[in-house]
Amino acid sequence: MNRRNFVQKAALGSAALLAPNPFRALARRGDGIPLDQLFVGTMIIPSALYAKGVAATLDEMQALAGINTVMPFTHTHVGRQYRADYRPFEDADGHPLTDIYVRTHEAYYPDPRWADRGPATRYADRDVIDELVEAGASRGIQVYGRILEPYVITGVIPGFEVFAEEDALGAPGDHVCFNHPGYIAYWEAVIEDLVRSHPQMAGFKFGQERGGPLQNALEGKVVTCFCPHCLRKARQQGLDAEEARQGFLALKQFSDQVRAGEAPPNGRFMTFFRTLSDYPELLAWERFWMQNREDQRRRMYAQIKRIRPSVQVGWHIDHSMGWALGMQAFWPYEQMGPYSDWLSIALYFDSFGRRSKGHYDRLYKDLLFGDADPALSYPMYLSILGLDPAQEPAYVAHAAEDTEFSDEYVYREVRRAVTTVAGKAKVYGRLGFDMPKYDCDIQPEQVYQATTRMFEARVDGVFCGREWDELQPKNAEAFGKAVRDYLKRR
Ligand SMILES: [Zn+2]
Repeated sequence: MNRRNFVQKAALGSAALLAPNPFRALARRGDGIPLDQLFVGTMIIPSALYAKGVAATLDEMQALAGINTVMPFTHTHVGRQYRADYRPFEDADGHPLTDIYVRTHEAYYPDPRWADRGPATRYADRDVIDELVEAGASRGIQVYGRILEPYVITGVIPGFEVFAEEDALGAPGDHVCFNHPGYIAYWEAVIEDLVRSHPQMAGFKFGQERGGPLQNALEGKVVTCFCPHCLRKARQQGLDAEEARQGFLALKQFSDQVRAGEAPPNGRFMTFFRTLSDYPELLAWERFWMQNREDQRRRMYAQIKRIRPSVQVGWHIDHSMGWALGMQAFWPYEQMGPYSDWLSIALYFDSFGRRSKGHYDRLYKDLLFGDADPALSYPMYLSILGLDPAQEPAYVAHAAEDTEFSDEYVYREVRRAVTTVAGKAKVYGRLGFDMPKYDCDIQPEQVYQATTRMFEARVDGVFCGREWDELQPKNAEAFGKAVRDYLKRR
């Protein structure tokens, strides 16, 4: 997944002028939704926040969308993995930005380099949580921190190369291993420092955007992780790593052959099924990998609750949950309750079309469902996802241009979470629109309707947009109007 806008946001940097604040008077009229009425959050990239100004941004959020919870990144290392040469973000003057937007304390870190904010970088002297807490207090706005996992080894975080996964052929991968003790220690240190040093931080969100080995094998990759730490843990759980290794290599071979134009004599779907039958440990290993990912969340949840139980800990459910069959099958909402206060469900209805089509093209069109014509298999794919193909754009529409999904997609996607979480955690709908580089031209009526549908699905709270600074004011305002109308009706 490409987070290109991350790059653009950071590039805004220091040159943006601090314009007069047209939203101050509006915000003073008490337009913010009181926290005890409904959770109304939004996300912001710190450099964009600083470019516009903290107070001005909060006033704008409150006046337009009724925001009462703001969630900046505290660490932005993940964005570097999408940049050429992993180079630092820069401001408009070409001055490199820090990757850590909160103060750090060396004592927490087994490797002192992890506390290094780059003293010469811009914003290394500021603390985004403290500043937002101070500015938010008088406005009734609470502050959550968030981090996305920087899972690609880029050299940005010193020592990560030691934590590399090992693939099925014994080569080091370019991703970090969930089970490496050093990697576990890194997160323990970051969380300990962040939570202890920010007693006013009301909540925290963590997540990642990487999928499991089944999907990777079908994409023709040599899968991970067969490092000594994973092998030991697998053995303790009675798994047969060798059978899994052979199975994933067989699956990759199947994928490679189909891509090369060879038609398997038993058909594509049946050959996939046959491979699962020949190597039943494939499914167990997929579950193992996904559970290793969840173990990271379980550790983090327990640690934060030990430090300060009032911190509301939630998880980033990435957009692929909506379109990847493997993700839906192997990442059950049903089981997340015990280590979740809340889940943030991605509902980016503008970008869903192109993104889900890309996934369908890579894994299903010619591969798993390649026995059928796309005119048949694409609607079936949407049906399997729980969507209504009759209400969503046809395959050819996506092929021609970016085409948004409907508010029915928004409703069904978040309703699935509400139903399966079954009250064991709160479910917040993260409505995404106006995403850069998608030519959907979303209009306020669509945002109003999509926001209203989240409430029909009985969400516990809502997030406005993917990142605040990519939203058109008219659409943020439509979101706010739908929230206010809902509260009037309720
Ligand atoms: Zn490993």
